[in-house]
Amino acid sequence: MAKTDTHETEADLTGVAARTKPKPSIEKIGDRKLKPSTLMMGHGYDPALSEGSLKPPIFATSTYVFPNAAAGKRHFEGVTGKRPGGAEGLVYSRFNGPNQEILEDRLGVWEEAEDALVFSSGMSAIATLFLSMVKPGDTIVHSGPLYAATETLIARILGRFGVHWLDFPAGATRAEIDAVMARAATGNVALIYLESPANPTNALVDIQAVAASRDAIFAKAAVKPPIAIDNTFLGPLWLKPLQHGADIVVYSLTKYAGGHSDLVAGGVLGSKEHINTIRMMRNTIGTICDPNTAWMLMRSLETLELRMSRAGENAVKVCAYLRQHPKVERVGYLGFLADTPGMERQADIYARHCTGAGSTFSLLVNGGEKEAFAFLDALKIAKLAVSLGGTETLASHPAAMTHLSVPDARKQALGITDNLVRISIGVEDADDLIADFEQALAAI
Ligand SMILES: *Cc1c(COP(=O)(O)O)cnc(C)c1O
Repeated sequence: MAKTDTHETEADLTGVAARTKPKPSIEKIGDRKLKPSTLMMGHGYDPALSEGSLKPPIFATSTYVFPNAAAGKRHFEGVTGKRPGGAEGLVYSRFNGPNQEILEDRLGVWEEAEDALVFSSGMSAIATLFLSMVKPGDTIVHSGPLYAATETLIARILGRFGVHWLDFPAGATRAEIDAVMARAATGNVALIYLESPANPTNALVDIQAVAASRDAIFAKAAVKPPIAIDNTFLGPLWLKPLQHGADIVVYSLTKYAGGHSDLVAGGVLGSKEHINTIRMMRNTIGTICDPNTAWMLMRSLETLELRMSRAGENAVKVCAYLRQHPKVERVGYLGFLADTPGMERQADIYARHCTGAGSTFSLLVNGGEKEAFAFLDALKIAKLAVSLGGTETLASHPAAMTHLSVPDARKQALGITDNLVRISIGVEDADDLIADFEQALAAI
């Protein structure tokens, strides 16, 4: 299946080489390295292993039959870490499966990551990452704000187990990051955790500055704390954090990667070394994505670039329309950073890190909650729902929904006002969407 090289070893061991040895994936034609959008259709899967089926079947099984006892022993040496590198074949569905392995190989392609893992949700991916890296007394340094459940996990849940945290604001300068990092370095910093753009403010984190700060502050340390980043909002198309100094990338695959608002899943990408550490924890606690969801995600990845490109193009048109509307106070869209006074630093981070502005933004209508609700209730195409990155356009009200429990002072500091509507643009016709927003703004 996905692990071409290792299956050869297994084949030698079991003497069934003809059946278990997959054809290597084609990644190049001559000197031409194939693009992710091409590789999504076949990478990591050999139809000959599945009766010639063009598409990978869904492997609905909880366990795998060993050809002989010695092969079973060798597998378990891999699974338990007695021998580095993980399982060489398929053992038990809490550890791995063909659908998940193919999906992991394809997910890694987008960011040229050495290895990847998929999980049952974005939050189970994040929780498994944290559990694999931190111990009581350690400190997590993070950017703020984070996805609300991630903040809860760090402060309230890991806090109960004696894990400390220190944060810096998403838009922090190198000097501000250095100050927090130096304070944290008086203890044992296990992990640096970022989210960019931050939800729901869209503030970008300077990953390059964080990496430079980490390298400077921990120059003499035996092991530097890895930098992980939640790349759900712009990845993998418009932001590739591994190229800017991050070590580990985290995804809620529920959003753009899944892209059809019909599944919940998560992913983690990075070096083999980090991924192996995280894999041991996933093997233990069973946070792996199920085969059916993995299969749906493979289908989603085939159209990832098409969907994200179209959604991004739609957002450009819709935001240009909204921005000039008399009932609109402001549009918080990354594509407008360059010509927004006072946003020079954010515009600089954007120019150095991002290749597109995404399709999720905030719309501040004139007025307060009453006006925002009137707008939301009048929408005919856009659906009133939380989440983002699906084929359909969604709109929600963070202050009254996702961020309802955030204390007022913190809401104010983050700019989560009562007139703020969060919009995720889908792949519909852009002019239809503009017509919908036009009539909904008229209803205010
Ligand atoms: C949705 C989301 C998560 C959580 O993902 P789930 O798949 O819902 O568990 C984490 N981070 C960000 C930025 C998100 O948008």
